[in-house]
Amino acid sequence: LYHALLVEGNARMNLTTVLEPEEAVDRHFLDSLAPVALGLLPQGARAVDVGTGAGFPGMPLLILRPDLQITFLDALNKRILFLEDALKRLGLTAATLHARAEDAAKMAAHREQYDAAVSRAVANAATLEELTLPFVQKGGVAIAWKGPGVADELTAARRAAFLLGGTVRGTVDAPIPRRADWAHVLLLTDKTGTTPKAYPRKAGTPGKKPLGI
Ligand code: SAM
Repeated sequence: LYHALLVEGNARMNLTTVLEPEEAVDRHFLDSLAPVALGLLPQGARAVDVGTGAGFPGMPLLILRPDLQITFLDALNKRILFLEDALKRLGLTAATLHARAEDAAKMAAHREQYDAAVSRAVANAATLEELTLPFVQKGGVAIAWKGPGVADELTAARRAAFLLGGTVRGTVDAPIPRRADWAHVLLLTDKTGTTPKAYPRKAGTPGKKPLGI
C-alpha cells in the first residue's frame, strides 16, 4: 500500500525517482530496514527521521515495527502533507514536523528527547552530526545511511561529533540481499554527553560550514 501511495503521490510531486517495484524494494524498503536487521532499535524506541522526504527510512521502519515512536521531520511541507495522508491510509500512528532540523532541535519537545535519530541521503557526515545529535538523549544513537565514500568523511565526522556531545562508534555493513555490489553502511554515533547550547548553529550553517572540516 505504501508503494502504491508513493506511485500515486509521485504523479503530483517529486517524491522519488525509484518506483519500479523490485528496485524500490531493495533501494528503499530493505535499505531502510537495516537498523532492525542489525538490532539497533529497541522495543518502543523514540526515533526522529531527519530529512525524511517521502518517508525513508522512517516509513518502512514503522510498517515493520509499529512499536517505534517515530517523528517524521522535513523542511518541505508538501512531503510532510504526503506523509500525514499516507500514515492515515496505512492506519499507522506517528508524529510529523515541518521544520528545518536546526530549528526543531532547539525546541524543548525535541531537543535530546530521542533514543535514535535516523537520516538517509540528507548531507555529508559532519553536517549530519550537527543535524541529528542534538535530538538524541545521552545513551542514544545517531544512525546515518552512507555509501562507499564514507571513509573520506569520518575524520571530520569524528571532530564534529566530539563538539556535539557524541562519539563516532564507526560503520557497520548493511548489505542488501541480491545487491552484493551496493556498498551500503550505517554510520553510528553514540550520544555520550550533552550538546552545548550553541549547536545546532543557525539554519543553513551546518551545511555551508560543516563542523570539523
Ligand atoms: N531521507 C529521504 C530518502 O532517503 O529518500 C529523503 C532524501 S532527500 C535527498 C533529502 C531530504 O532532506 C529532503 O526532503 C529535504 O527537504 C530534507 N532536508 C535537507 N536538509 C534539511 C534540514 N536542514 N532540515 C530538515 N530537512 C532537511
